[in-house]
Amino acid sequence: MDLDYSLMMGLDYNLMMDLTDVELKLEELEAGYKKKYFRKDTKRAWSFNCHCGEKVGSNIAEEYFIALITRKDPNAIGRFCSKECAEIYFNEQRNELLVERERIIEERRKMREVYEEAERKFIAIKEKS
Ligand SMILES: [Zn+2]
Repeated sequence: MDLDYSLMMGLDYNLMMDLTDVELKLEELEAGYKKKYFRKDTKRAWSFNCHCGEKVGSNIAEEYFIALITRKDPNAIGRFCSKECAEIYFNEQRNELLVERERIIEERRKMREVYEEAERKFIAIKEKS
């Protein structure tokens, strides 16, 4: 019986990469959440529909909010009428990423535990023989 260090290291490496990926997404999400001001120097008013159904136009409003909608499309940017509307999406995605991060951290912890237990047994067997 021999312990397969390379297998565990490979699994842990994958989890580490997943963790880095989730943390990058969190950073991107936070960086992509902004307040924007409508340009007032354009001849034609520009408008969009918020996810709540509210129509927002540069001729009426001063500001709007943007947030990345990575869950639906990695490059999608959502435009929102208000901070409250943007926060619903921002928090939803942030929570999803935080849950995912916890899951990976827990998985790494469990794997280490299993491995340490196996190592203890391995040493005990060796000492007996
Ligand atoms: Zn809205």
